[in-house]
Amino acid sequence: MSAVREHFYIGGGWRSPASAATITVVSPNTEQAIGSVPDGTAADIDAAVAAARAAFDDPNGWSRWAPAQRADAMERLADALDKRAPQMIEAVSSQNGMPVAISEKLEAVFPQLLLRYYAGLLRQESFEETRPGLLGGSTLVTREPIGVVGAIVPWNFPQALASFKYAPGLAAGCTFVIKPSPETVFDSYVLAEAIDEAGIPAGVINIVPGGREVGAYLVEHPGVDKIAFTGSTAAGRSIAEACGRLLRPVTLELGGKSAAIILDDADLDLVRIGEQLFSATLLNNGQTCFLGTRVLAPRSRYQEIVDVFTGLAASLQVGDSLDPKTQIGPMASARQRDRVESYIAKGRNGGARITVGGGRPQGLDNGWFVEPTIFADVDNSSTIAQEEIFGPVLSLIPYCGDDEAIRIANDSTYGLGGSVWTSDHDRGVELARRVSSGTIGINNYLPDPTAPFGGVKSSGLGRELGPEALSAYTVAKSIYL
Ligand code: NAD
Repeated sequence: MSAVREHFYIGGGWRSPASAATITVVSPNTEQAIGSVPDGTAADIDAAVAAARAAFDDPNGWSRWAPAQRADAMERLADALDKRAPQMIEAVSSQNGMPVAISEKLEAVFPQLLLRYYAGLLRQESFEETRPGLLGGSTLVTREPIGVVGAIVPWNFPQALASFKYAPGLAAGCTFVIKPSPETVFDSYVLAEAIDEAGIPAGVINIVPGGREVGAYLVEHPGVDKIAFTGSTAAGRSIAEACGRLLRPVTLELGGKSAAIILDDADLDLVRIGEQLFSATLLNNGQTCFLGTRVLAPRSRYQEIVDVFTGLAASLQVGDSLDPKTQIGPMASARQRDRVESYIAKGRNGGARITVGGGRPQGLDNGWFVEPTIFADVDNSSTIAQEEIFGPVLSLIPYCGDDEAIRIANDSTYGLGGSVWTSDHDRGVELARRVSSGTIGINNYLPDPTAPFGGVKSSGLGRELGPEALSAYTVAKSIYL
């Protein structure tokens, strides 16, 4: 993929940027420039917020449309995205190194799934009810769209994570300014073209790629009513502070360091569970927020589990993200590879034992590749067990008994995902209840559109997905009758 874009999608059309600055996109596979887009500035955000504001405030506009009319438009957007699936897969995978085998299942599918799911909810939901009161009268309780939303998304799943925000928000009647990460911009133009084709009214979704200053400017913009953020915990804290000061509603989907708890009765046959284990611990080159990157292994089966994970990591095909056979592609940026390699060095220096990987793969001299790496004998208090690495690196931590497994799992500042691996379903569910996290899977980890997704502790505030997310884009109003 190579592309040069010269405009932003603002107010339902292609608008010239306020400055001549550009973002150069560099291929993680080759380290060569593959194109550029304009770099958003405060003036571009002003224009995008003005367009979103006008669309929201239009008395005959999107927020006032009948729910079924919005649902129809959302389904048209899903259809327009379906048509563009090949471009979307290529755009995402050529920029962030996500293997196409993954982008074709997630980035080119999840947004449509969510748009259709929320369109379906919209057809069933009533946004108002009349309640008999206790004091003689009654109350008309309405749920109104919250307003203009600033949606700030990271590079790791740029389209799926944007749709976590705009799909429920559009259903509620909100309008959007989306700010993609500088690492993943081309895919946002594919989305813009689909929005255009679907006949979503002008200004309902506006897109301005840019860096963190532009993101921070959007967060504080007086024309914005809510911020929906996915990204690092450090950025989330600073956004939360700004939103606290402004009393602006905010959802924060942040980092994680989840536990994959292997119980002593787990089925560890890679033929049967290899795909699920891979998805729960290493998906997208390890650059996924919910992964169980701390693998808790019972001492009674410790050596066997070290061998299973060593075998799994050694078997993975590392290569160009655009090759359908690739299972682990390059890191998204040089900075990201530096970060992963610095953690591998910290693990080594801290006394953990590397059983496989630890370096750069042979024969891949260009591109930001890192070998899938397994650390055994890791202490849960060590840096590699406490901090988010965001690469294909797992820490194996031994434990004795279920209580110790829970204690170690919960000994983390994060609480986003996790998994329990067992042949006894009920035992797995009971243990899952005791893990401090917003989500957790049994013998798998697969977020579903119908169920709330989000974190506790340093993993964030609020929930995306499910009917819960639709509520989060509305505000209740009581009209006493
Ligand atoms: P990042 O926080 O550096 O950037 C995320 C987005 O926020 C980008 O668009 C960036 O430009 C913008 N941004 C950065 N600082 C900002 C600020 N102060 N104000 C406003 N905008 C700002 O994160 P990243 O490196 O792009 O993404 C990786 C992180 O995202 C990891 O920590 C990962 O765990 C997290 N993540 C969380 C989830 C989740 O659902 N919980 C999902 C995916 C990724």
